[in-house]
Amino acid sequence: MEFIDCKAIAQKWKDEIKSTGVNACLYVISAGDDPASAAYIKGKLKDAEEVGFKCIHKHLEAKNRDQLLMNLTFLLNNLQYDSRVDGVIVQLPLPFSITFGDIKMWLSKEKDVDGFLSDSIFDPCTPDGIVQLLKEINVDIDGKLCVIAGRSDIVGKPLAEIMIRENATVALCHSHTPSKLLYQLAQKADIFVSAVGQKDFIDSSKFKTGAVVIDVGINRTEQGMCGDITINPNSNDILITPVPGGVGLLTRAMLMKHLLVAYQKYHTGRQTR
Ligand code: NDP
Repeated sequence: MEFIDCKAIAQKWKDEIKSTGVNACLYVISAGDDPASAAYIKGKLKDAEEVGFKCIHKHLEAKNRDQLLMNLTFLLNNLQYDSRVDGVIVQLPLPFSITFGDIKMWLSKEKDVDGFLSDSIFDPCTPDGIVQLLKEINVDIDGKLCVIAGRSDIVGKPLAEIMIRENATVALCHSHTPSKLLYQLAQKADIFVSAVGQKDFIDSSKFKTGAVVIDVGINRTEQGMCGDITINPNSNDILITPVPGGVGLLTRAMLMKHLLVAYQKYHTGRQTR
């Protein structure tokens, strides 16, 4: 069993972005007091600075749902037409049960660098990062069996779609998939992706020699952060992403890649600022 050095790969991507000398601008909108969101935003500010981008963070205060919705839609609407801003993200979750669906019509698809809109010009960062990682380490996807656990709109489903586009044979598992079937599929998988969010969801010894295993899960325990996969030293010869220091870093680097593309698309044939 060998861990994939996601840290080095994310760094390589960030260095490539920095070397373009582009000064793109990311606008991050948040509301509420979710501690995980605060940490994610801090990471995005840090990444943007590292690659030479500008990052504006606007935290919206509101007393109730209507007020917050009004502030969000007003801001998003203005940002659609703001040529100084290349990418806009709304950090989820939002308070007062406001969902992405409530605000998505005010986000422009060209600036949706998270790739959350159905007609976004980007794939969502996590699945996009996973596929770019596989390509980076020369994993052949064409004709391979890719088993994905988890069918969320931001990871499992879009990943299945991209893998199909890349000519993999895809099995998308979820909470109604019988465990026995999931284990049978896992044993056959050339590529296995776990995006469930359950510690010890599956043991690394379940995978066949040569399998590439991607652990998307982020689970916070008293011992610290861990993924979905139990690391068993008696596993076959597999490649696996670590947690922490794995898919999360690739997701963050992908966001910066998307921002670069958004900038380049907007400025193609135009004068740069
Ligand atoms: P969701 O909570 O939205 O979805 C979890 C999925 O797991 C659901 O589709 C659910 O099925 C499925 N599931 C639950 N139990 C089982 C089971 N026994 N067998 C198979 N599937 C099961 O999760 P997200 O996609 O948002 O996130 C998943 C994990 O990945 C979380 O730990 C999250 O923190 C992490 N994450 C990490 C990122 C990174 O950059 N590293 C980015 C995004 C997420 P059903 O649909 O039937 O309920």
